[in-house]
Amino acid sequence: MVSDPYREEEVADGVWLISGSHDWGAGVNAVVIVSGRRAVVVDDLYRPGDARRMFRRIQRWGVEPEALVNTHWHTDHTIGNCLFACPIWAHVTGPKYLQQYWPKWVGGPRDPRAGGLRLKLPDRLFARRASLELDGTEIQLLHVPGHTSDSIGVFLPDRRIFIAGDTVMDLPFVIFGDSLEEIRSLRRIQGLRPRMILQGHGPPCRGSRLAGDIRYLRRIRAQARVARRTGISREKFVETPLEDVLPPARYRALPKGYGAAHRGNLGKVWDELGRSR
Ligand SMILES: [Zn+2]
Repeated sequence: MVSDPYREEEVADGVWLISGSHDWGAGVNAVVIVSGRRAVVVDDLYRPGDARRMFRRIQRWGVEPEALVNTHWHTDHTIGNCLFACPIWAHVTGPKYLQQYWPKWVGGPRDPRAGGLRLKLPDRLFARRASLELDGTEIQLLHVPGHTSDSIGVFLPDRRIFIAGDTVMDLPFVIFGDSLEEIRSLRRIQGLRPRMILQGHGPPCRGSRLAGDIRYLRRIRAQARVARRTGISREKFVETPLEDVLPPARYRALPKGYGAAHRGNLGKVWDELGRSR
């Protein structure tokens, strides 16, 4: 029997990391920031049952969600939007992608993937940055594209915690986005000097991890450039093993399933370089 992957952990005072299950081994995360009787929720998981469970949990705490943030349009971060009556924050381009992909990836409320939940679009939109306030404490929303063009991160400056969505994952994943934008965004997050980063999938990590993420992306971009110059085919290039581009310790620590993400990244950087010529 598979153990229940749903988890709630208070990773800092009033900052709850909620993890739910995913088809993919690393699970998926949401974050609830609580102060007094108010809360800001970041993302709302993938399985309808997990989203409902998180929502009920917030109700049992007796706190009122006053804002929900969608870090990006991917439906494994937005399935529970319709449970929340509060404003939903997102990048200005997020709703158009959600509207386009929800019917394909989730379907109508009767679809088993939707589990009775329906599409609810974000209604508080911004382009570069926005600022929320929770009980007198500032919460910054920053556009950090790369994983997707609409990706945003949530920074808690008083605690130096960065809630990254999928801009930070155990391995950068740019197939839906752009590798150069991702490098720029990772540098921007480094500049915030976060003490803790809460990733969209996988456990919390430190800011020092980002240097290795940037090196990985730079390396596969450089390798794609050489491969194109020397006549290696795209089909052959995307088979470049992950262990060839990551330090051994980092490679060994990666959960299974990232091989496919790596192949997707290789194909993406290959295509990006073709476009820029
Ligand atoms: Zn994503």
